[in-house]
Amino acid sequence: MIYADNAATTKMSKTAISTMVSLMEDTYGNPSSLYEFGQKAKEVLEKAREDIAGSIGATAREIIFTSGGSEADNQAIISAAKAGEKNGKKHIVSTAFEHHAVLHTLKKLEAEGFEITLLDVHSNGIVSAEEVENAIREDTALVTVMYVNNEIGTIQPIREIGAVCRKHGVLFHTDAVQAVGHISVNVVEDNIDLLSASGHKFHGPKGTGFLYARKGIRLLPLIEGGAQERGRRAGTENVPGIAAMAAALKEAVSNLDSYKAKLTPVRDKIIAGLREIAHSDLNGDEERRVPGNISFCFEGIEGESLLLLLDDKGIAASSGSACTSGSLDPSHVLLAIGRVHDVAHGSLRLSIGEDISDEEADFIVNAVKEVVEYLRGFSPVWRDLQAGKGKFIL
Ligand SMILES: *Cc1c(COP(=O)(O)O)cnc(C)c1O
Repeated sequence: MIYADNAATTKMSKTAISTMVSLMEDTYGNPSSLYEFGQKAKEVLEKAREDIAGSIGATAREIIFTSGGSEADNQAIISAAKAGEKNGKKHIVSTAFEHHAVLHTLKKLEAEGFEITLLDVHSNGIVSAEEVENAIREDTALVTVMYVNNEIGTIQPIREIGAVCRKHGVLFHTDAVQAVGHISVNVVEDNIDLLSASGHKFHGPKGTGFLYARKGIRLLPLIEGGAQERGRRAGTENVPGIAAMAAALKEAVSNLDSYKAKLTPVRDKIIAGLREIAHSDLNGDEERRVPGNISFCFEGIEGESLLLLLDDKGIAASSGSACTSGSLDPSHVLLAIGRVHDVAHGSLRLSIGEDISDEEADFIVNAVKEVVEYLRGFSPVWRDLQAGKGKFIL
């Protein structure tokens, strides 16, 4: 079996698992308790906070633990929006291809009277900092742009966008769930005010994540209760999960160079192989993409059938984000980069991990070639295209 869906979730690292298990066995106190058991857990929690802060250039007090990327996105955006509202600012700038954790939160704010500007992401899947600047108004409360897109892997000019936001005094949030642990991220150099990350996207446990909020930025709690996380997130902390997330992140960040050196050539080899398929195209910029992402469209087929047949061959892949699979609408990300519906339906995302071998990469390319050809063999859309009854787009 080949697991090529690391953008959906990753396997926990051995270090993360052993950290988690040993804490579950020995350090089960409540970090809010004053006796030794509790204080031991509290130490583990604060060490994890320091390690996580250190891996993105933040300080420990700027990190709050959440249940994952979705919660961090919700809290960052809602906090910034409500702070803006107090000063009469009810405009938010974002992009058309954000994760649903961002887009649905924005929809909710729109229903409450906020005005949302969603910027174009162009055919290469990259937002322009200049367009962000042009969209900023007197009443802009927040700019939120993802660091790396989860479907097509393109890396956004975060540092430039952050600089534009600083220049205009507007808060800047980035959903960095697909960036943290995969490429180098530094909140100070990148001019970031708020950042969301998720443990299970970098070999940590599911149900863990964190939100970075630059010193001085007030966060509204989404969950009311005890005074945990200095009143910003109530509920007894998931100590083993948080420590395992920190261990996974430390490991990932210390291996970023070898990760890139190992994966980039494999990624490019798969891209070159898939390009040999007629009427296919890579989604998103070829250069400015994370080391593990390969996203393609193939004309005349359905992505869902492609996935099922790849599964039969032992390959786990995706045709878009897990949240949209099961629905008949094509991916909003592919539509945002200008793919028409028919083309967007024939999509495939392979997100490879560092354990992939050269043989497995070759196996993937051959399997996709076979399956695409097989599916086109009885696709009415493909038959019409071949007969000249429709026009090829790719
Ligand atoms: C996975 C993902 C999320 C959601 O993170 P969870 O921890 O699963 O809630 C948010 N944004 C992006 C870009 C993602 O890839």
